[in-house]
Amino acid sequence: MFYVYGNSKAHKIRTLDVHHIDCKACESKRTLTLTTFIKYIHIFFIPVATEGKKSVIVCSNCGKEYDVSKQSENVKALAKVEQDQISIPLWHFTGLAILVIILIISLTYDLVENYL
Ligand SMILES: [Zn+2]
Repeated sequence: MFYVYGNSKAHKIRTLDVHHIDCKACESKRTLTLTTFIKYIHIFFIPVATEGKKSVIVCSNCGKEYDVSKQSENVKALAKVEQDQISIPLWHFTGLAILVIILIISLTYDLVENYL
């Protein structure tokens, strides 16, 4: 059976400037942004389920990424607020809805076949 499966697709939801900290790699000021993603599982490029939310800090000057969990408590709290405010889009469950519809149609078809 041929199928395409991927688990690391990410949908960028929101970007917020984090100007109160400087980039340690290039020492630029006011170039960091907090970006929040929602990762989802897909089959045939159709999203089926979500894997959760993730935030990273990225420097727009040098591209360096910083793990939020290794930042100050203020940055962690900001990332938590951002993740709490974002709701998971319904289209992330498109594949699941299609599978449920196919299941209902096949069960209904079997019932009709057995009745006739
Ligand atoms: Zn930088």
